[in-house]
Amino acid sequence: MESESNSRVHFLLIPLLAPGHTIPMIDIAKLLARRPNVVVTIVTTPVNAARYGPNLQPHIDSGLPVRFMELPFPAAEAGLPARIESADSLPGLHLLPNFSLAVDMLQQRLEQRFESIEPRPSCILSDRYMIWTADTAVKYGIPRIIFDGMNCFKQLCTHNMYLSNVLDGLSDSDPFILPGLPDRIEITKAQLPQEFNYSDLATRDQLERVRETESTAYGIVINSFEELEQEYVNEFKKVKNGKVWCLGPLSLTNNNESGKSVRGNGKSTNEQRIVEWLDLKEPGSVIYACFGSSSRVIPQQLIELGLGLEASNRPFIWVIRAGDRATEIEEWITKTGFEERTKDQGLLIRDWAPQLLILSHPSVSGFLTHCGWNSVLEGVCAGVPLVTWPLFAEQFLNEKLVVEVLGVGVAVGAPRVVHWGMEDKFGVTVRSEQVSNAIRKVMDVGIEGNERRRKVKALGRVAESAIEEGGSSYKNLTLLIEDIREVAKRH
Ligand code: UDP
Repeated sequence: MESESNSRVHFLLIPLLAPGHTIPMIDIAKLLARRPNVVVTIVTTPVNAARYGPNLQPHIDSGLPVRFMELPFPAAEAGLPARIESADSLPGLHLLPNFSLAVDMLQQRLEQRFESIEPRPSCILSDRYMIWTADTAVKYGIPRIIFDGMNCFKQLCTHNMYLSNVLDGLSDSDPFILPGLPDRIEITKAQLPQEFNYSDLATRDQLERVRETESTAYGIVINSFEELEQEYVNEFKKVKNGKVWCLGPLSLTNNNESGKSVRGNGKSTNEQRIVEWLDLKEPGSVIYACFGSSSRVIPQQLIELGLGLEASNRPFIWVIRAGDRATEIEEWITKTGFEERTKDQGLLIRDWAPQLLILSHPSVSGFLTHCGWNSVLEGVCAGVPLVTWPLFAEQFLNEKLVVEVLGVGVAVGAPRVVHWGMEDKFGVTVRSEQVSNAIRKVMDVGIEGNERRRKVKALGRVAESAIEEGGSSYKNLTLLIEDIREVAKRH
C-alpha cells in the first residue's frame, strides 16, 4: 500500500439517476472506500438505493465505510407516478421534464441535511448532468469533481470541436476530419453528439449550463485506463491542468459471480437459465447483443436486428429493450414464430441481463453493442471483440475509438445519430444484411478476425493490471485522494 496521511477524506458521490451513470459511480464508491481513511456517502433516492444496494451490501458488511444517504424523491410534487426514480423506468418520454424537475428539487433536500452530514464532506463527486451540485459545492466551500462516464478520446474531441469552426458550411452528411487529434479520423456532423447536432429534446440552454458547470469543476474522473488511450489522456490532461484521473475500468471491481449478477438491478431472475444455455454452446461461438439500459429502438429497427442475428447463423443472446413499444415487438415475435424458429440458435432476454456474467462466459466471443461507454469497456475487459452499432449521444465517437484507433471492432455501418426520444423521426437506418455481415466478420477466425481478437484480449489483460495495486488506475486513485486531502486541509 502506498503511504497516505491520516486525516479522513469524505467523498460525497451524487450520481445521475440513470443506470449507465449510477452503476459506474457505485463502483467508484467501492474503490474509494477500500482506501485507508476514506469515507464515502452515495446520495440517491430510496428506490435507487434498493436497486443498487445488493451490489454494495457485501462490501458494507465486510466493513467498508460506504453508505447510502437516501433523499425522498419528490415524485408527486413533480407530477410523476410513485416509485419512478430512474430515467429508464419512465413510462413515457412526455414525463421527462417532470423527471428533470424532481431531480432539481433534490438540491434543496440535500442542502437541508448537509450541515448534519458526518464527517463533513471534503468534496462532491457528481455526475456531469447533476448541474445543481455546482451551486451546492460553492455554497459549502468544497471542491466538486465531475464524472460523466466517458473516455478521454470523447472529451478531447468535444473540447476541440468547441474551439473549431470546422462545421461551418457543412451539411449533415459531409465527411470532415475531427480537428486536433493525434489520429486522422473522419466523421459526419450527423454522427456527432447533440452539442453539435441538436436534438429537439435537449435545449441549447441546458447544454450550455452543463458546459458552464463543467468548466468550473475542480477536476474530472474518467472511467478508462491510461494505456487504452494514452495520447488522448495526455492531451486532455493539458486541457484540464492535470486534474484528470482515469480510474477504470470500473466494472472490474465486480470480480465475483454474485457481484456480476446483481450489478445494476439488485436481482437477477434469469441468470441460471442463461448460464445453462451458454454452457451448452461451443466455446467462442456466441454473439451477445444488447443496447444498454435506456435505448428506445423502434420495433421496425429491432426486427432488422433480430433478422440479422438469425441470418448470421451464429448462436446469439438478444436482450430486447423496446421501452413503451414492447408489445409491438412481442407481437412480431409471436406472429412470425421468430422465437420458436430460432430456439436452438438464440436466447431472448426481455428484462435486465447480467451483462458482466454473460460477457465473461467462455462461449461468448462477440458483443453487438450500441457503444455506450460502459458496455464498450466491459467488452474490452472480457477480451471480446465488438460489433458496433452506435445509436445516440457520444456513441459514434466511441465507435471511432473502437474500430479505427484500437482496432477491436467492426462497424455495422450506422449512418447517423438517432437522438434519444426521437427514434420515430429517423426510422430504420440499419438493415439486417449489415448486421449479419458485421457479425460474420467479428466472429471470423481468419487472419483479420484473429488479429482483432488478439488485440482485444491483450487490452483486457492490461485493463486488469491497471486496477491492481501499482497499476495506472490504482495510482491515479491514490493521487486523487491525496489531492482532495490537501485541499481539505486548506479549508
Ligand atoms: N446493463 C446490464 N444489463 C442490461 C443492460 C445494461 O447489466 O440488460 C449494464 C451494462 O453492463 C452497463 C450499463 O448497464 O454497465 C449500461 O451502460 P452503457 O454506458 O453501456 O449504456 P447506457 O445504458 O448508458 O446507454
